[in-house]
Amino acid sequence: MRRWILWLLVAALVLAGCSTVQRAKVHQMTYLDLFDTVTYISRYTDDPEGFQKEADEIHESLMEYHRLFDIYHDYDGLNNLKTINDHAGIAPVKVDPRILSMLADCRGYYEATDGAVNVAMGSVLKLWHDARSDAVSNPSGAKLPDRAALEAAKEHCSWDTVILDEAAGTVYLSDPQQRLDVGAIAKGWALQRVAEELPAGILINLGGNVCATGPKKGENTPWIIGVHDPKDQSSYLCTLNLMTGSAVTSGDYQRFFTVNGQNYHHIIDPQTGMPSAYWRSVTILSDDSGLADALSTALFVMDRDRGQTLLNRYGAEAMWVDDQGNCFYSDGLTAYLQQEK
Ligand code: AMP
Ligand code: MG
Repeated sequence: MRRWILWLLVAALVLAGCSTVQRAKVHQMTYLDLFDTVTYISRYTDDPEGFQKEADEIHESLMEYHRLFDIYHDYDGLNNLKTINDHAGIAPVKVDPRILSMLADCRGYYEATDGAVNVAMGSVLKLWHDARSDAVSNPSGAKLPDRAALEAAKEHCSWDTVILDEAAGTVYLSDPQQRLDVGAIAKGWALQRVAEELPAGILINLGGNVCATGPKKGENTPWIIGVHDPKDQSSYLCTLNLMTGSAVTSGDYQRFFTVNGQNYHHIIDPQTGMPSAYWRSVTILSDDSGLADALSTALFVMDRDRGQTLLNRYGAEAMWVDDQGNCFYSDGLTAYLQQEK
């Protein structure tokens, strides 16, 4: 009997030794093929193989949304946003219900923001996108989009010509020159849908859309999220504690091109058709990643008062950064601040 107890003790010590070898730490997987950006999936765990499988499954779920919301590529047997755009003025397109649901939310955000975030202005956004692509491949020949073309494109951004038919399961752009571009909302919207199905303790960073499904470890250990300094992306203006929910940043410092020494970025004021000049970045905190994504773009193209009115309506928080590097916080945001520069 005593010998058995001795053996049990030895076994317990060996097992304890094993568990110190497989110490828990944050493991991270990186993916480069989603939504034209970099995705990091992280979890604090002592089971790297299990985590890798879990992260690959999350990646696969996000990939489904990537294909549905893609405006640049066709996929065999799939009607996506590009199919809808290609059929503008031609015919309604039968789509996956998630496309209808996402577009219905986009229409809601368009109305709530008085048009500040408008995924139906793809015709305008395409001109900027093409100018940026041309500038990247030929920086010395960089040019702004033609002013007359911009003004003409602005005439094709109305939601009256976006026909969402829930009963038929179709989307139709009745204006042949209209295009959808869901870049301002789709990442956050997809992330929210995927995150809702996950267990606690996972952090996903989908190109600046960060979503935590619960604390890093235990009950009270938050994830620490850095907010980039737009003037120097190697440093952070502040760090935020995030237990659960999303932090989403829109900024002018990653996608831009230069003409005559002036930078032109990718977030467009629908009123002017030009890159918005209010802020260098806006970060939104919210329980809903889709909402946070919509608001990050909307608040980027408006002054702080209008932005605060929207935050009050939705119960979200924001941090604004202006071109002098000044940071402004909504009242509730300071509770999340971990450290300031
Ligand atoms: P985000 O980084 O979430 O602010 O989204 C920026 C992307 O959304 C851009 O690359 C454009 O494709 C698109 N976009 C830019 N400005 C707007 C706007 N005012 N409303 C809707 N989409 C926009
Ligand atoms: Mg956005």
